[in-house]
Amino acid sequence: MKVLVSVKRVVDPNIKVKVRSDNLAVDTANLKMAMNPFDEIAVEECVRLKEAGKVTEIIAVSCGTAQSQEVLRTALAIGADRAILIESAEELQPLAVAKLLKGLFEKERPQLVFLGKQAIDDDCNQTGQMLAALLDLPQATFASAVTVANGMASVTREVDGGLETLEVSLPAIITTDLRLNEPRYVTLPSIMKAKKKPLEKMQPDDLDVDVTPRIRTIKIGEPPTRSAGVIVPNVATLIEKLRGEAKVI
Ligand code: AMP
Repeated sequence: MKVLVSVKRVVDPNIKVKVRSDNLAVDTANLKMAMNPFDEIAVEECVRLKEAGKVTEIIAVSCGTAQSQEVLRTALAIGADRAILIESAEELQPLAVAKLLKGLFEKERPQLVFLGKQAIDDDCNQTGQMLAALLDLPQATFASAVTVANGMASVTREVDGGLETLEVSLPAIITTDLRLNEPRYVTLPSIMKAKKKPLEKMQPDDLDVDVTPRIRTIKIGEPPTRSAGVIVPNVATLIEKLRGEAKVI
């Protein structure tokens, strides 16, 4: 069974970002970049399915500039078998990525497509759902457990106040949540081995996809700064302040 897993290059989640001076985007110049954390979980899950004998081939795909090869090499080091870069200098919005993944799905015909539930840069949480709609395939989003057997995937989802378990027939689209697994540490030998694995490049035109952005950002800004807190000496003062100053009691 073949699986496709998408990996996006984003700003390292440990870095505090700043708004660009034109207020139209976050300033990513000279920042450390990394694989989107939910995508790392997705790759790890595919590798675990392969280790369990359920999957035979893992194809990692990234859409973006040539620098996205870095995250593809990481996916190969975690255990993907081959990688595809769909190269574009355009700002790729979820609909464009979903169309590119649809094109690749039709070429590769995998039984499962894994995506992260959201990219931590745009926080859209849309691509997996759009892909399922474009392909008219079953989807199970926010997976916190996945089992595959007899042409079906059983997916446990984290929902408000509990867990929901769904069964979807394959092929299907799955998006990963934080608690699905803990990605393995990538070792030096696996990084060296990944350098020899195949990495193919293609263009949106090869898949007949127009990636022109459909949404224009008007403005982005920093969140309002919080005023400094005050340490109160005792409960009586706290109550006095809540009543007199904050007027919440
Ligand atoms: P989003 O809908 O933008 O929050 O992204 C959800 C998921 O779609 C991500 O976790 C990735 O798995 C996938 N995705 C989004 N953009 C890209 C991209 N440029 N390249 C590869 N995968 C992507």
